[in-house]
Amino acid sequence: MKKTIRDLNNLKGKRVLLRCDFNVPLDNYGDILDDTRIAAEIPTIKYLVGQGAKVILCSHLGRPKSSYDKYLSLFPVAVYLMKVFPNKVKFSRTPAGKEAENEVAKMKEGEILLLENVRFLEGEERNNPKVVQELCRLADIFVNDAFGVCHRQHASTYGVAIKLPNAIGFLVEKELSVFENAFKTPKHPFVAIFGGAKVDDKINLINNVMDKADTIIIGGGMAYTFLQAQGKKVGRSIVSLDKVDDAQRILQTAKEKGIKILLPVDHVALLGTKVVKTKSLDGNMIGFDIGNASIKLFTKEILNARQVMWNGPVGKYEDSRFKKGTMKIAKAVAKADAYSIVGGGDSVSAIKVSGFADRIGHLSTGGGASLKLMEGKSLPAVDIIDNK
Ligand code: ADP
Ligand code: MG
Repeated sequence: MKKTIRDLNNLKGKRVLLRCDFNVPLDNYGDILDDTRIAAEIPTIKYLVGQGAKVILCSHLGRPKSSYDKYLSLFPVAVYLMKVFPNKVKFSRTPAGKEAENEVAKMKEGEILLLENVRFLEGEERNNPKVVQELCRLADIFVNDAFGVCHRQHASTYGVAIKLPNAIGFLVEKELSVFENAFKTPKHPFVAIFGGAKVDDKINLINNVMDKADTIIIGGGMAYTFLQAQGKKVGRSIVSLDKVDDAQRILQTAKEKGIKILLPVDHVALLGTKVVKTKSLDGNMIGFDIGNASIKLFTKEILNARQVMWNGPVGKYEDSRFKKGTMKIAKAVAKADAYSIVGGGDSVSAIKVSGFADRIGHLSTGGGASLKLMEGKSLPAVDIIDNK
């Protein structure tokens, strides 16, 4: 078990560097378009403030190409936090160095300082020792609560954890326990839904989940590789040719183990510029969504589940012509009397678009990190944290 902030004693007056994931979508005016990730961090910040720590917040935002980019400044996040913690929050215009050190030196117990975008530091993503050193100079203790980047070995997620006494925050603790429980003590029937476009990245995930799930539903761009493996027509839909054998093996294993795999039985496709509904993807058709019969088939299975894990939209949901399948699946997951877990950047945004987000058991805040956990892998930035 990893140390959590509850295991840290005597935080009063200590400088705690809290790595957060404030990588939120902003518009060009600095308005925060989705505050989920900031809101998810508030309990940990509140706890540390309550313990009388000096809370130094550190995060990345986007992918800056130089040491400053005004569109990737964390200042809007500071403004947000100032409203949640009146008179407690300050902003450091640099992520480390003299100015940041001066700001930290001025901090009182229970105050919060948000550092500027840590990726403005050259070498942050390469875990450069100089960056590690600069960050360590700001703090006595390191807390990692940046779930979205726990699969990354950066200076601010990994390097500092080696040097400073450390722990994980409430968000990382929650995310880890959700996935651990889902696999260790799954509720049955356990239905896993996969979709999206990145078959190559996700085939391992199916392999892992297959050991625990009763039913696996495959839709979206992922389905065509499996349909091809079954010898069905796929037209010009996306197929990962070098994964067809893997798909075949998965179908075979599922058969042997008695795991049900459901694939689409009809499609919404594009033929030239025309949208067509079809059972068979002939000639030049490109499948972009599951059809009504597939929706019915999948929905019936989902409504019967006690646990659902979902990664990957079942269609090109960003395009209104192809979003119906994903919206209907979201509705079914919300309506089912099941504990539901949704991971993956696009999957979570699709759920939000559907309006059913508040009826999902757990919406993971980390895309890549949640995929790793679904694959049954551990996360380097968590592994490096001290055990209890
Ligand atoms: P997540 O971000 O949840 O892990 P992915 O990034 O793997 O999910 O997949 C989401 C993408 O998959 C979306 O951009 C969506 O448009 C695309 N997609 C879904 N179905 C299809 C399809 N049939 N053909 C092409 N792209 C698809
Ligand atoms: Mg995605």
